[in-house]
Amino acid sequence: MTKQITKQKNSRWGMVIDLDSCYGCGACMVACSVENNVPPPAPNANARNGVTPLRVLEARSGQPWPDAGVAYFPVMCQQCGHHAPCVSVCPQLAVDVDPTTGVVSQIGERCLGCRYCMVACPYHARYFNWSDPQWPAGTEQALNPAVAPRMRGVVEKCTFCHGRYQTAQSKAAAAGSANVDPVDYMPACAEACPTSAIQFGDLADPTSSMAKAAAGADAFRLLTSLGTEPGVYYRTTRKWVREMAASNALTKGNQTHG
Ligand code: SF4
Ligand code: SF4
Repeated sequence: MTKQITKQKNSRWGMVIDLDSCYGCGACMVACSVENNVPPPAPNANARNGVTPLRVLEARSGQPWPDAGVAYFPVMCQQCGHHAPCVSVCPQLAVDVDPTTGVVSQIGERCLGCRYCMVACPYHARYFNWSDPQWPAGTEQALNPAVAPRMRGVVEKCTFCHGRYQTAQSKAAAAGSANVDPVDYMPACAEACPTSAIQFGDLADPTSSMAKAAAGADAFRLLTSLGTEPGVYYRTTRKWVREMAASNALTKGNQTHG
């Protein structure tokens, strides 16, 4: 008997990151690299030309003891929901928004490497591959077959683990549904976080805990004055952390890992 595939609903996959739970261990960065076949840094790589689709930034209150404080900000592509700057500038249509997921894609095979999108992105969330990927002998056997490694000369960024989304989509289709079950789709960073600081889910579902957390009084987004409508939210009860994020200092912040 042929299964009837249901009509796909429009989702808005997003994150709510609890900064009061993040202690900067960097497990999310490692999980991101492993999941997405990010190779070890090239011999000449530095903080400017390395590839780190997810960075954990460190922010300090700058106050003397006992008011000294430190906060850690996991920052990745913010999945801009409104006129994403990177989408509008790409001459190759290598960047697009999937209307059914709200996720901004990155198609390496189409990218010509002009890096216009890197200039346009206000979150410094894009990376250029200055070198061909290289792995220590033998470790290439452990690459994730669901994700194509990127070649030298193209830009990449976080896609909320698109390979995982496709796997979840295939599972849903096999069950006769066009809609991914949120239980089956979670980016590697959220899964790896030992304190569950990174929550992931459908912001378009008003009954979800995600949507409620994003609407909470302690939630905020980065660079909202630009009108980019990010799909990544942060939350904290610490006033100085909110003030620092609002001052845009984070986009120039110190990187603690990677
Ligand atoms: Fe594009 Fe940067 Fe926005 Fe991500 S954060 S959608 S890369 S402009
Ligand atoms: Fe598009 Fe690639 Fe140029 Fe970015 S670098 S704007 S993805 S062609």
